Amino acid sequence: MSRHVLAIADLADEEIESILHRAEEMEAALVRRGDAGALPRSAAGRIMATLFYEPSTRTRLSFEAAMWRLGGAVISASDMKSSSASKGETLADTAKVVSSYADVLVLRHFWDGAARVAAEHADVPLINAGDGSHEHPTQTLCDLYTLKRAKGTLRGITVAIGGDLKRGRTAHSLVRALARFKAKIVIIPARGMEFPGWLLQKVAEEHGYRPTVARPGDLKALARDVNALYLVPARPHQLTLFTDTEFDLEERLAEAEPITLDALYMTRPQRERRDDTTDDGVEYLRVDSDTFEDPTMRHTVLMHPLPRTGEISQDLDRDPRALYFRQAASGVPVRMALVEMVLAERVGCEVGTASTRAEPGATRVGPRCANPNCITRREEVQSERRFRFHREPAGRAHLVCLYCDHETRIQVIGNRKSKRYHLYEEPMYGYLDAWLREDALVIFDSVKQAEEAAYKPYKLGPQKSIMSAQEIDRALDELTDAILRDTPELKDLVIVGVRTAGAFLAQRIVERIRALRGAAVDLGVLDVQGGGDTIPSWPGAPGVEGANVTIADHHVVIVDDVINTGWTAKDALACVWRAGRPLSARLAVLVDRGHRQLPLKPTYVGKHLPTAPHERVRVRLRELDREHRDRVVIYSYVDPKAAA
Ligand code: ASP
Repeated sequence: MSRHVLAIADLADEEIESILHRAEEMEAALVRRGDAGALPRSAAGRIMATLFYEPSTRTRLSFEAAMWRLGGAVISASDMKSSSASKGETLADTAKVVSSYADVLVLRHFWDGAARVAAEHADVPLINAGDGSHEHPTQTLCDLYTLKRAKGTLRGITVAIGGDLKRGRTAHSLVRALARFKAKIVIIPARGMEFPGWLLQKVAEEHGYRPTVARPGDLKALARDVNALYLVPARPHQLTLFTDTEFDLEERLAEAEPITLDALYMTRPQRERRDDTTDDGVEYLRVDSDTFEDPTMRHTVLMHPLPRTGEISQDLDRDPRALYFRQAASGVPVRMALVEMVLAERVGCEVGTASTRAEPGATRVGPRCANPNCITRREEVQSERRFRFHREPAGRAHLVCLYCDHETRIQVIGNRKSKRYHLYEEPMYGYLDAWLREDALVIFDSVKQAEEAAYKPYKLGPQKSIMSAQEIDRALDELTDAILRDTPELKDLVIVGVRTAGAFLAQRIVERIRALRGAAVDLGVLDVQGGGDTIPSWPGAPGVEGANVTIADHHVVIVDDVINTGWTAKDALACVWRAGRPLSARLAVLVDRGHRQLPLKPTYVGKHLPTAPHERVRVRLRELDREHRDRVVIYSYVDPKAAA
């Protein structure tokens, strides 16, 4: 077994500390490198192979220099794209072959999770030198080394990380490491370049970190319009439910302590990894000597993994607080310490220790990872376990890719014993859990995949109609009256329907308002899955092609058909908030079926309907129904007879 370093989680705290300590010795030895015996010869007779499928200056040259300084030798395909990869060789085969030429492999690749696939096939230790936008653990070692030397400690320091946090792998590894050392972390993403969900989830799960919003004033010097979040170890705090909204901004800011930054870590926009053009024209954070003139930044050091592309002005280069060139220089001693450790530890380690350990509850059958840049979508992976379950206490379930860490929503679940499948919805969580325990759970990509595997759909339980067309009409009249009673000025009102049924109900409410008051109220359609920064107008309305409703400074009423756990409502609130800061936000639902998991209370409810958890409530509307009829029905997801 070999010792791989694929993610920062593969190194224990003590190992990180010992690498940082050893790197200091290496740095001292490098200063005296002219003296005989100054440098350790711990890699004498060993070979490192560097496989770089993406450009690199610092990482590759410092790895190679480190190996030579340790008395070892380096082989390298200067451009992997011109190697066998261009003839269609898999990364798995390349890793297998090259590991018979070398004692340690260093890999950089453009696909997320590539390092793990290569490590599964390598017979010697493999070090990840950056895999897509996933992780870059050795950069983090350099960052920690530089930070520790500058600040004396990592524990409890406050570090702001700014820029492209969505695709910046150095920021991903760094935030995970800082959380382990209990640093306070301020995140300042450029708009639309926030940390991915999987990462925030990890720091929350592993280290109890929860985001809270920082005082914008503390960071005002950094950039205009920043949306800074402060990651702190969690205190029981129900407000943290709204992590991606600012509903509770005032309260949180009132509680927040002023921030003194120990370090500001800037990153560049990862243009080559962009999958879309949504961030075209985004104002990117920039720091210059003005920023650093702010008295609160007196002791703030400035870091950057480089290359910089305008985020840090050159006029800071001579400032003693600018550490980015020192960070780059630390690459040699830090990588010497790491390579020495990895070469010394050839025995007794599981593949990639912490981050690849087979996890209980990992699924065998799974859909494709939802991350388009994940290696598992490009190369066949042999490992049976590709995902682990992530369950939130509140009952949502996701699959987490063991290669790239991205979350994939569960869409279709099946039962291996009954050979039946069903579309997954949150209230089905009980089934998912039970089938998992019985080892009967199968997760499919799509209905098509389930049917190809010869699974049949579950028969639903008998249907019971619980609201007639007249009752729905009456409930909508009452909802409309109640909304009007609470809205003195109709011109400030915006109705936003949650796609799909909620949008049709919202339209009916708007029509009722027009009939009662002769006023046209703006109507928007919100797609909680879509998650943009605007809410489009109702598509059927004349002359609104491509228009958006105005949320800022309006009273917003969100309309949905059924409220259950509250998660959709929470997501809808978040979408509204992203589109602008409303004067107020209210929630109107036709049916409240209970089983709330979030502390949310709709302002207006057409009908309260106590249900059992396994029951499904469906609002069938004439606009969407094959029989063009309105009614609300209730039935079991899975016919109780079939389930037994
Ligand atoms: N050099 C770092 C990396 O390879 C940072 C960057 O390219 O922005 O990820």
